[in-house]
Amino acid sequence: MIVNNTVSNMIKVFSRLSDMKLPPIGRLLSWGPLTILSIMSFLTYMVFYFAEMWWVPTESVGGMIHISVYCLMTAGSLYWFFTASFTGPGCVPKGWTPPNDAAFDYLSYCNTCKAYKAPRSLHCKKCGFCVKKLDHHCPWINICVGHDNHLYFAIFLMFTLLGCFQAAIVLTICLYHAINRNWYIHEGQEPVINLSSSSLMLAMFATGLAIGAVVAAVFLLHGQITGFIKNYTEVEGWVLQKAKYRRRAAGLPAFVYPYDLGWRENIKLLLAKDFDGLWWPVRKGCSPKEMMDEQKAQKQDRENRHFVCNVSDEYNGSCVPVTTYTRASLTPPLNLAPRIPLCVGETVRVFIDGPQWLFGVKLTADGKESGRRGYFPRAAVYTDADLDEAQINTTNTHKTKAA
Ligand SMILES: [Zn+2]
Ligand SMILES: [Zn+2]
Repeated sequence: MIVNNTVSNMIKVFSRLSDMKLPPIGRLLSWGPLTILSIMSFLTYMVFYFAEMWWVPTESVGGMIHISVYCLMTAGSLYWFFTASFTGPGCVPKGWTPPNDAAFDYLSYCNTCKAYKAPRSLHCKKCGFCVKKLDHHCPWINICVGHDNHLYFAIFLMFTLLGCFQAAIVLTICLYHAINRNWYIHEGQEPVINLSSSSLMLAMFATGLAIGAVVAAVFLLHGQITGFIKNYTEVEGWVLQKAKYRRRAAGLPAFVYPYDLGWRENIKLLLAKDFDGLWWPVRKGCSPKEMMDEQKAQKQDRENRHFVCNVSDEYNGSCVPVTTYTRASLTPPLNLAPRIPLCVGETVRVFIDGPQWLFGVKLTADGKESGRRGYFPRAAVYTDADLDEAQINTTNTHKTKAA
């Protein structure tokens, strides 16, 4: 039965490959998947290398169980990694329209996909299509995480967490033995782990990598499980958080999230095989429109807070402009949003204001938005604060002169 299910699951995964924008092998040839596969191979090599010295699998049942469990975790991690990547997030079909007329008024139309954007779906520029229940675009599997592969992605994280946790424990114990080798000799014991200085460095690096992977996987998996229980995605989580503050500040009643049906129903929906993820059930008395309206209100708030400024210094679009903007390069934005190069004399509209970096879009001569949005160093433009400061300095200079 289990074998049958696994085989039918594999067939389903491979039958979907033809629908993908990128051929699966092409999708794996990117820095994200290659990094994940390299880390997994490296940690597996190190665990086997140490197991041969510390707990030899062929010499004891315990050693055999230990290495078998590790192999199981790594195989599981690889299987769900490929499944999440090859299955893809699921796209809104071309020409999709909502099932009821009222929804035409509040759903927007995607000109690229030639379809209405289904509730909870968003267009991903990197993937090139509207993703059903978009959680986030994942560089590690090099495709979005959405309705179709959300669960697979979480299972991949779980196996990765368990495998890396085991690797971290094994490597830490072996490293302890290797570092205290002389103490073991002094106590008259045979040292279990013998390492050259370069192997020791490699082992330290592998231990750090395994611990780092455990921390990252715990953090990510916690976010995913919370999202599953409350039925919200990473994107919707941000909207809900902002809704709390926005509505409190505006004196409005608390926002009721329409897609949270209670944890049992939410999990049932997550596991439902026959649900297409396009038209989501909502809480009694709620409508998808409320979520759209809240998102629109937040967008409007953001637009209202924007300001326009002129470029004072050239910026080449570098993520870490050490030589030109040293202070900004020390605190770069920790996300994959693009950076936009700037030339002196250009004008930009700023949407996000930060101490070192601003996020905005360049404007054309007639004040229209052009090109992509992105980050740039605050020091590359004149902001209102700079102009105020210049004004104060000028006034002070005049006062000094007058005195
Ligand atoms: Zn689209
Ligand atoms: Zn994407």
